[in-house]
Amino acid sequence: MKRPNALCVFALTLVAPATACSKKTSDGPRDIVILLLDAVRKDHFSCYGNARKTTPNIDQFANEGVTFDRAHACAPWTLASVASAFTGNMPETHGAGVWSDDRSSGTPTALDEKNVTFAERLKSAGYKSYCRSANPYLDLGCTQGFDKVETIPGNAEEVVDWGLESIKSAGDSPACLYLHFMDAHTTRDLPKQYVNKFETPGAGPRMPAHQGYDAYIENRFVGDELVKFSTHRLAVYDGAISYIDKAIGRLRKGLEARGRLDRTWFVILADHGEEFWDHLTEEEANYHDSRGYFGVGHGHTLFEELLQVPLVVAGPGVKAGARIKTPVSLIDLSPTLLDAVGMGPQVGGFTLGRSLLASFDGTEPERRPVYAQQSLYGHKRRAIIDTDDWKYIHSFDAREKDFLFDLKSDPLEKNNKLTAKPESAAELKLKMERFFDALPRAGSFDPSVIDLKTAEQLRNVGYLHSSGSRPAQPK
Ligand SMILES: [Zn+2]
Repeated sequence: MKRPNALCVFALTLVAPATACSKKTSDGPRDIVILLLDAVRKDHFSCYGNARKTTPNIDQFANEGVTFDRAHACAPWTLASVASAFTGNMPETHGAGVWSDDRSSGTPTALDEKNVTFAERLKSAGYKSYCRSANPYLDLGCTQGFDKVETIPGNAEEVVDWGLESIKSAGDSPACLYLHFMDAHTTRDLPKQYVNKFETPGAGPRMPAHQGYDAYIENRFVGDELVKFSTHRLAVYDGAISYIDKAIGRLRKGLEARGRLDRTWFVILADHGEEFWDHLTEEEANYHDSRGYFGVGHGHTLFEELLQVPLVVAGPGVKAGARIKTPVSLIDLSPTLLDAVGMGPQVGGFTLGRSLLASFDGTEPERRPVYAQQSLYGHKRRAIIDTDDWKYIHSFDAREKDFLFDLKSDPLEKNNKLTAKPESAAELKLKMERFFDALPRAGSFDPSVIDLKTAEQLRNVGYLHSSGSRPAQPK
């Protein structure tokens, strides 16, 4: 946000009394520490069921706090997803990383200054805020509002060092620290003991999996060779998560030594997951990717291995060991944090996400449909997961097949029901289109306000009711 324009102030003033209705957790200054593990899928944290003990320090936060079992990213890649988490809006509205169809090169659109981020709101409440991202994508507008920013590559230890050093300058002020870890995304520079940490003894010749997917894309391993490659790739990936977790443990101790541990809400999450050959066959048969990536990586599909992300919250007033089963979206993150510090859930004049503060004590939130969109590689796609767990994925390219899944009976999305249930597919597609059609759009809309017609359209598809955003009145 360039400056709080009159319209925006008007909208915020108008909605504040109506939305600042959530409970304030406790008195005294509160810090917020957000730890984002880039490209880490949920099921690779041990607190989400990984048989390998990858995340003992994160597990401790989960034991002390609330774990969201079904948190969804809005997009399967960094810029669009993080911008959604920071603004409380879908990519269609905030405009970051929104491409025309079938992008293969060029620079993505940045998060425009007219968007309002949670860091900007925290500043107005006296917060000192610090952002250290090892992923330079955040440079494209996502750091607006932070007092101190560094967005160069670095390992987890360096990121944590920066965080502990920076937060010193907050003194007695409330602080917000955002740390973005890339070690699991780019495992190339992982220390050797973590490359080897989960290696299976006697698993055969080592493959160059610690250098990402290059060797796989080049060689297209199948059979035993693919088993060797994928086994090693997954071991390295878990090793990288373990490396980040160890650094998070050191961060915790550092904050404790500075007397900030008990006053801090910790949020641990990922921006999206990662594919490990989950839908290789479907992608090879149906999808186009200019890089030739099928079944691995991220950024190009909307299957659950990319959309479901870990989300753990711990800190003052948060119920120890609680688990939330209801699907939630990362657009709910900023409204929740602002609500927790007593500012109400509104981020900008228009905020699609809702506060999950009530779930800090383990209360299940009202179920809403979850939506996602992708726009990094391949053709434009959108998805809806409805409140009865039916999921529809639509491609904008008619040559690509759509998918319909019953996530209740088929959580791994193996049985496409599109042909068997054409009416259900059509119904979901219509609901999804109504939702996206109703969204305020970047480029043609000032997201600091929302008109009543838009609000009504969103309400009709399950948004903006009860604790959700309220529209500004027409002038
Ligand atoms: Zn990412």
